[in-house]
Amino acid sequence: MLQSHVKFHSIAGKRLVLIVDDEQINRDILQHIVEEDFDFVTASDGEEAVEKIKEYGGLLSLVLLDLRMPKMDGFDVIQWMKSSDEYAEIPVIVLTSDESAEVDSLKFGASDFIVKPFSVPEVILTRMQKTIELYEDRSIIQSTEREDLTGLFNKEYFYRYAEQYDTFHSDLIMDAVFIDINHFHLINELYGRKAGDEVLIHLSDYLKDLREKTRCIAGRVEADKFFVYIEHGKVAYTTMVEEINSHFDNFRDIHVRVRCGIYQNVEKDLDIETRFDRAIQAANTIKNNYSKSIARYDNSTYQKKLYEERIINEMDDAMASHQFYLNFQPKYNVHDEVPVLASAEVLVRWDHPELGRISPGQFIPIFEHNGLIQKLDIYIWERALECAGRWKKEHGIEIPLSVNVSRMDLYNSSLLDFIIEKLIDYDISKSNLYLEITESAYMDDSDQLIEIINNLRAEGFKIEMDDFGTGYSSLNMLADVPVDVLKMDMRFVQNLKSSAKQETMIRLIMDIAKYLGMNVVAEGVEDKAQVDFLRSVGCDVIQGYYFSKPLPEEEFVQLILDERA
Ligand code: C2E
Ligand code: CA
Ligand code: CA
Repeated sequence: MLQSHVKFHSIAGKRLVLIVDDEQINRDILQHIVEEDFDFVTASDGEEAVEKIKEYGGLLSLVLLDLRMPKMDGFDVIQWMKSSDEYAEIPVIVLTSDESAEVDSLKFGASDFIVKPFSVPEVILTRMQKTIELYEDRSIIQSTEREDLTGLFNKEYFYRYAEQYDTFHSDLIMDAVFIDINHFHLINELYGRKAGDEVLIHLSDYLKDLREKTRCIAGRVEADKFFVYIEHGKVAYTTMVEEINSHFDNFRDIHVRVRCGIYQNVEKDLDIETRFDRAIQAANTIKNNYSKSIARYDNSTYQKKLYEERIINEMDDAMASHQFYLNFQPKYNVHDEVPVLASAEVLVRWDHPELGRISPGQFIPIFEHNGLIQKLDIYIWERALECAGRWKKEHGIEIPLSVNVSRMDLYNSSLLDFIIEKLIDYDISKSNLYLEITESAYMDDSDQLIEIINNLRAEGFKIEMDDFGTGYSSLNMLADVPVDVLKMDMRFVQNLKSSAKQETMIRLIMDIAKYLGMNVVAEGVEDKAQVDFLRSVGCDVIQGYYFSKPLPEEEFVQLILDERA
């Protein structure tokens, strides 16, 4: 833990002293004595001293206080300080020519006294130092302020100095910079720890030079990780990284390269740790990217993260308050002259009370990422079956529905039991539920997954391989993989116009499907030319805006009833 009494004034870590004396000559002498070791402010009478204490209070390490002054004398100043909560702790050294006042001043709470006229500067400085040490517990500071190997600030003190810097330079635009040595552990392993230490010291030397040149604050915060807090515009970071790299050019034949994350123009409302977290985050984005050594924090990344967190946190409530609902997008069989409504894909929708309608393209990947998708999908499947059950009961409609199944869902061991149970509950036959599994799920190529899908098929479910063509399954793999239908990714159809190659690709997919005895569904079909082409190459089923957008339940039911009539 940091000592709450430790105070820093300047970047160099000099402490701040208030010099109070009504005689100019005395102030000048004291300034001259202390200026190398301390920062100082002065006051020429008691009232001004009080003003200065109020202004600098939290930052003052010591007050040198003359006793005899006009307006308000030193005793009054001490008394005022001791009676305040904020300033009572700041040590005071009394300046006096009257040795008899010494006892009184100590009684009032002064820590020490210095006799005028000022004679030996060393004595004065030593007394000041001693007083401050007592107050701060110097031993703790010395062992913790800088870390041993490089002499740069350690993490805690780095943060303290950076905060302190802000207090005095609130108007400056600052950058938080994180520097990390690539593969430092390898350097340790290959050349030994001692060489590793030398690398760290060598980098620290560069940073100390930088500190001299730019008045930045530098710290080593972990093994090979360094922070720099620097005024924006003081260095060009590409140059800095180049300089660091060439600083190592002839260094013991060890190849040293650094990676640098920069959070530019920091928001000062954020705490200092967060600012540097952002610099680290930026650096992490290029962790295994050998062509880049600098990354800048991008606020949109942060906004995106916030948004994702919100979406995740709100899923449960959204489910409970029915913000998720279903759309149904018809699939048409185009085998005969007149297209026939053959089935529909169930697509989830989210109406958020504040964010409005959120597209599944946005929230599904987030839920897939953290496993929440299982919960949502189970909910969606049950709602879908509930709808199908209702249509059957109320209108005698039986139409196959396909639901989307995420890769994660497949690892849920109760998946099959759950679906079968719900099919029975809502009186729907297995053959009326298709499962769309994206091609990339198959790329896992795990035996377990193949077995799960085989079980589903053995139970009588039809499996469609969704987004086919985006995962680059090999022909070989396709032959072994359990699938009934290939659902060609929509980009094939949508690029039809732009390149003749797409026609060839689609023909190829049709050939593969025919060879493997599978049907093909084309999705994302938006115009008649696309329909005509697909039909001409033998595509069986078409889904897309050309026939219909995804529809709310009532509209979809109405569409079926109209078609039947
Ligand atoms: P997908 O399974 O490939 O679904 C097709 C997407 O294409 C749907 O977007 C659909 O609205 C859209 N679409 C249909 N016809 C056309 C067309 O003619 N032109 C164009 N440009 N787009 C068309 P949507 O509804 O935004 O869904 C996006 C993705 O979200 C889906 O892609 C699917 O991967 C996922 N998704 C949707 N609902 C669910 C669900 O309940 N569970 C899971 N796990 N994923 C779902
Ligand atoms: Ca789908
Ligand atoms: Ca798809």
